[in-house]
Amino acid sequence: MQVRGEIMKQPASLTPGLAFTDCGLKIAGPLAAKKAKTGGKSKAKAAGRRRVVKVGGKRVKTIDVHAHCVIPEALDLLGLKLENQRGPGIGEVGERRIREMDEQGIDVEALSINPQWYKAERDLVAEVVRIQNERLAEFCATYSDRFVAFASVALQYPDLAIQQLVHGVKKLGLRGVAVGASVAGREFSDPMFHPFWAKAQELGILIFIHPQSTPDLKNRLKGNGWLENTIGNPLDTTIALSHLIFEGTLDRFPGLKICSAHGGGFLPSYAPRSDNCLRVAPEMDTGVKLKKKPTEYLRDMYYDTLVFTSEALRHLAAEVGSDRLVIGTDHPIPWQSKSVDHILKTPGFSDKERRAMLGETAAKLLGIEPWR
Ligand SMILES: [Zn+2]
Repeated sequence: MQVRGEIMKQPASLTPGLAFTDCGLKIAGPLAAKKAKTGGKSKAKAAGRRRVVKVGGKRVKTIDVHAHCVIPEALDLLGLKLENQRGPGIGEVGERRIREMDEQGIDVEALSINPQWYKAERDLVAEVVRIQNERLAEFCATYSDRFVAFASVALQYPDLAIQQLVHGVKKLGLRGVAVGASVAGREFSDPMFHPFWAKAQELGILIFIHPQSTPDLKNRLKGNGWLENTIGNPLDTTIALSHLIFEGTLDRFPGLKICSAHGGGFLPSYAPRSDNCLRVAPEMDTGVKLKKKPTEYLRDMYYDTLVFTSEALRHLAAEVGSDRLVIGTDHPIPWQSKSVDHILKTPGFSDKERRAMLGETAAKLLGIEPWR
């Protein structure tokens, strides 16, 4: 099987974390975004650095579903500081970000903002989310061929979250919703969230789950190794997905389109254990009758490819299906700058599978036009 990843310009060693010097704070905001529009696009093209990705001779529109930004104005309202947010240039959606996307071969980013507002009171969080969703919509309008975005919602107030979701999708043109992996100690399977999932299912939008380091384990995750993130994040996702499966939430809302960051955390790596647990310990069955085996639900969801090695990607695809995988870079947090090559170089996939992972699956989920 011949696979070609055509590269117009690819730096020999792209190390975003080391290469960045400015933080681009002043560019966030509608006026600055408009100002940056012309310069950003023309400079990127003039420099000739945009990497074009082809598989089997066919150009692929590469789409990254896992790309972070923050809105400094909203951070201020929450009492948070931009300089404490990880990721060089995370406060900017403009020229610098597009340049980095061009170098990595990413055509479109689906922007999301990690929810740091689940404990905020109602009036405050309403304002935070309003600002964020309006800014995200402005970024997407300014650079309509490079960005789409997931709406922010205040899930601690499900009725408000539904209003924000509907407004974000129907009025602002946002393509999905970004959520954490729990909401201030409550699991997504909690019935209080059922109305929200029902609305998300009705709208048919993509739900992007991004973990928040398993806050209940903060004490045990201290020490060397940044364990709060290194294992706390994948564990957070693992717990969230396990509850959605075992509490019957996915049976109740079978049309939900869920995409989890970091390859779904640890769950796909050890999935069959979930199929055997209640056989070993039937007394732990609370009476929830699932419609299928726990591992079968994994194949109903989507996952990003941020799993680093060829073997990890092969295994993830074996467990969930390659048609369930989409690029996730974590940009501008420098976990992975070779996401495109990771997919191109992992042995064993057909050209069709690679095109799907690189962008065709995400394009369908996010309503993005393919190349004409
Ligand atoms: Zn991330």
